[in-house]
Amino acid sequence: MAIALAEPMSLVDPQRRVIDYLRISVTDRCNYRCTYCMPEEGAAPAARVDVLSFEEIVALARAFVTLGVRRLRLTGGEPTVRRDLPALARMLREIPGVDELSLSTNGERLVALAAPLRAAGVDRLNVSLDTLDAAKFARITGRGALSRVRAGLEAARAAGFASIKLNTVAVKGFNDGELGALCDFAWERGFVPRFIEQMPMAGGQTFVPGQLLSAAEIRAAIVAAHAGSRLVAHDGDADGVRGAGPARYHRLVDDQAGPLRRFGVISPMTEHFCDRCNRARLSATGALHACLAHDDAVDLRGPLRAGGTRAVVEAITAAIAQKRDGHDFQLVGLGGPRKAMVQIGG
Ligand code: SAM
Repeated sequence: MAIALAEPMSLVDPQRRVIDYLRISVTDRCNYRCTYCMPEEGAAPAARVDVLSFEEIVALARAFVTLGVRRLRLTGGEPTVRRDLPALARMLREIPGVDELSLSTNGERLVALAAPLRAAGVDRLNVSLDTLDAAKFARITGRGALSRVRAGLEAARAAGFASIKLNTVAVKGFNDGELGALCDFAWERGFVPRFIEQMPMAGGQTFVPGQLLSAAEIRAAIVAAHAGSRLVAHDGDADGVRGAGPARYHRLVDDQAGPLRRFGVISPMTEHFCDRCNRARLSATGALHACLAHDDAVDLRGPLRAGGTRAVVEAITAAIAQKRDGHDFQLVGLGGPRKAMVQIGG
């Protein structure tokens, strides 16, 4: 079903934030079980009949683009476990008005998929990587293999994406001693490392307060790992590093002229960025979440399947009209949503 509107519009929320970026979860399933992401017992997967088809995802994406969204990101769950993902990428990239299509992945399947995804029009890639130690990697992901992700990263590099960013969730007592090495690993390959503060998702079930590494601690650990260097704020806009996300970028400089050593920090816990939020999230079952940190959702699948073009647009604008000012994550692990990250579409 094609959804068409006569007039181009903008999605503006009550805080006058313009929503021009949509994260689309293509599945709530994941081939990993990262300890900070999914509760121990797992999250019950959605019934297949409830999961949006490619055509339905494209119809909803068209509606968002008509409403002013310009950038799309495929995510999950783990998006690469959805069959024929490159075909969906191609359909989305061909929507007039889409300026950029990117993908977040754990990298496990990139050896086979990097080239087809790039050929289908995926512009940018974010790959999760929490450690460079194979045993620790297996431990935190539950079932991942570091060697496959490293091979996948090489395949991605060869495929020629406009940018590849590595996302590390910073966990005290797990990878705090590795942040400098993760930066070096990324810089040596032309990738941009980013570090994420751990959030209390799934009702705080996966959150251990003592494991929180703050943005300030992350920056200090990276400087400490590079003797003689100092930090300067870096406007990622200048070289296109910033992208559409909430990361704040920095550059490590020293007296030696060297390659550009940039890194990003995403700090939902200690340095909020809600005033700059430009995004909404579409779950695999067609629920629109205007904020990651709350369980509020508006169903788009019902009106879409009922054939109600106008009803879909009204549901989207209603969800954005109710977008919260900010989140309520608390350092002790309270204040997050009941839903797990995989169900919201991280
Ligand atoms: N599977 C894909 C991936 O690995 O990028 C997409 C979904 S995943 C939920 C998106 C990102 O959220 C990953 O970088 C993951 O490490 C991060 N993440 C998951 N749970 C988190 C949490 N509790 N706090 C902070 N980041 C989290």
